[in-house]
Amino acid sequence: MSNRTFTMIKPDAMKKGYAGKILDQILQSGFRIVALKQLHLSTAQAGAFYAVHKERPFYGELVEFMSSGVIIAAILEKENAVSDFRKLIGATDPSKADEGTIRKLYASSVGENAVHGSDSDENALIEGAFFFSGLEQY
Ligand code: GDP
Repeated sequence: MSNRTFTMIKPDAMKKGYAGKILDQILQSGFRIVALKQLHLSTAQAGAFYAVHKERPFYGELVEFMSSGVIIAAILEKENAVSDFRKLIGATDPSKADEGTIRKLYASSVGENAVHGSDSDENALIEGAFFFSGLEQY
């Protein structure tokens, strides 16, 4: 099992000013920041990142949303990073997320759900490499 995962603080949470609180919760939960940057994805970049969801009915909405404002992208490190981070962020739909999870606290809907978290070690590597070169990872 790998010890790294990839996350984004999505445009909804950035616009509402939750970035500091979310990063604090991530650090307090024992994750170390390996790489971090703020950027505004173009629709082409968001489309490429979410290409795996191309056939899903919400793909267009997802790409539009993820390119609607600034995001923070980060690689995180901790033992069992992927599964522990998925537990920390909670269910995709915030109304179904456990109390105290990041999505329960800061997300408003299944689409605008505050944070991304990789769903496998393999995807964590691919997603991290989409945003960061080896030289940018510490
Ligand atoms: P995740 O792994 O928990 O992020 O969930 P998924 O891999 O199933 O979906 C990826 C992302 O697509 C989610 O985090 C949401 O931002 C978005 N998404 C999922 N389902 C829906 C939906 O029904 N409508 C919209 N607009 N977006 C969705």
